[in-house]
Amino acid sequence: MNVIVIGSGAGGATVARELAKSGINVTIFEKGPLNKMEKSYQNYEVLNTGIEISQTVCVGGTTTVTMGNAIRTCEKYFKSIGINLKKEFQEIEDELCVKPLPDSHFGDGTRKLMNAAESLGFEIKKIPKFIKPQNCKPCGKCAFGCSKDAKWTTVEFIEEAEKYGAKLIDNTPVTEIIVENDEIKGVKSYDQVFNADIVVLSAGAIETPRLLQKTGLNAGNNLFVDTFVTVGGILKNIKFNKEVQMNAFIKIDDIVIAPHYSSLIVEKLHKFGARKKDILGLMVKIADEPSGNVRENVIKYSTMKDIGLLAKGSAIAGAILTESGVDPVTLTSTYARGAHPGGTAAIGDVVDIDLETKVKGLYVVDASVFPKAPGAPPVLTILALAKRLGKHIIKEKIS
Ligand SMILES: Cc1cc2nc3c(=O)[nH]c(=O)nc-3n(C[C@H](O)[C@H](O)[C@H](O)COP(=O)(O)OP(=O)(O)OC[C@H]3O[C@@H](n4cnc5c(N)ncnc54)[C@H](O)[C@@H]3O)c2cc1C
Repeated sequence: MNVIVIGSGAGGATVARELAKSGINVTIFEKGPLNKMEKSYQNYEVLNTGIEISQTVCVGGTTTVTMGNAIRTCEKYFKSIGINLKKEFQEIEDELCVKPLPDSHFGDGTRKLMNAAESLGFEIKKIPKFIKPQNCKPCGKCAFGCSKDAKWTTVEFIEEAEKYGAKLIDNTPVTEIIVENDEIKGVKSYDQVFNADIVVLSAGAIETPRLLQKTGLNAGNNLFVDTFVTVGGILKNIKFNKEVQMNAFIKIDDIVIAPHYSSLIVEKLHKFGARKKDILGLMVKIADEPSGNVRENVIKYSTMKDIGLLAKGSAIAGAILTESGVDPVTLTSTYARGAHPGGTAAIGDVVDIDLETKVKGLYVVDASVFPKAPGAPPVLTILALAKRLGKHIIKEKIS
C-alpha cells in the first residue's frame, strides 16, 4: 500500500505521521523548501484579492508562522454532521501540552488591555497555546518563525513520520493528480509520474481546489478567510511589539478580539512620530461569509454582513484601547487581511464525512474541508480531522 500526501502543513503532516506510524509506505510531496524555522517569514505567499490572504509555502506549511493559538473550533458543528472529534482533540491537546502561557509570559500591554476590557464589562480569557513556556523568551516574532524552538509546528510531525520510514520530497510541487475510471492512480510533478493506491490532498485552501479542478471536480467555491483588521494607536514606550501576541481573547457572536501588534499601524502613525515600541493594538477577526472563489485567480470580498461585524468589533477595540491609555486621536486600522483561508473543498460538497472525494482513494484534509468559517484559529481542528482520517484509512484500507 503506497500513500502519497500532498503538502506538509497542518493537515498533510498530521495524516502522514499517523499513517507512517502504523507501517504504511508514505511519501510526502512539498512544494516549498525545508528552511531554518526563524527564516519562515521568507516563505510567505501573499495574495491580494482586495482582502490580503497570507500563507507560507515550505515544509511545515503555514503552521511555521502561527501565533501558537490552539482552540477547538466548530466542534459542535462537526458533531452535528456526524464527525465527532472529541477523542482526537483530547489526544492532540495532551500530546502538545496545549494550555495558556503562564503569567510570566504576559507583558504590560496585554495586561493593560485585559484590565481595560474587564473594566468595560467584556469577558476576556487567556488563549491556550502550543508554545513551550520554558523555551519561550517573549520577542513578538511568532509570525516570523520561532528562533527558540518554543512553538510547535508540523515540522516536528514530519520529522517523526520520517523516523517511521516516511519519505519527504521537498521543493517538488504536485502539478496533477492522476485518475482513471474514477479511481486514484497517483500524481505528477511536471512530467514525472508517481504511482499510489491512496492520495491525500493537503495543499491548503488555495492550491487544493486548483488540483481538484484539474481532475474535473467542482471545487474552489465558498472561500472564507476569517477576515481581520488590527486597530491600534499610540501608548508611548509600551513595548507591546516585543510581547507574545494574542495571549487573550474576547468572543462576541462571530467576532474575536485579541491583543495584536501590526507594523502597518506604525506606518500609518508616522505623522504622530510613532515608533514600533509606542503601539498598542487589538486584532478584530470575524467568521466571514464564504463570498470568495478560487480558480486561476482568487476572488474574495467582504459582504455587508462582514463589514457590519468588522465595524462593531473595531468600535469595541477602540473603546478598550482608549480605556488602556491609548491616545484616541491616534486610533487607526489596517486594511482587511485573512490568515485562515478555507471552505473550498467542503464536507458535504466536495468530500464526504470520511473526507473522500468522488474519486475512490482521493482524500482531502486541510482547511479546504471546513463547511463554514471558524472565525477562530483552525489548526487544532485540522489536526483533529487529519488524525481521524489517518485512523479511517488504517481501518478501512489496511485491516
Ligand atoms: C501569520 C499567521 C498566523 C496564524 N496563527 C494561527 C494560530 O495561532 N493558530 C491557528 O490555529 N492558526 C493560525 N493560522 C492559520 C493556520 O496556520 C492555517 O489555517 C493552517 O496552517 C492551514 O492548514 P492547511 O493544512 O490547510 O494548509 P498549510 O498549513 O498552509 O499547508 C499546505 C501545504 O501544502 C503545500 N503545497 C501547496 N501546494 C502544493 C503542491 N502543489 N504540491 C505540494 N505541496 C503543496 C504548501 O507549501 C504547504 O506546506 C495563522 C496563519 C497565519 C498566516
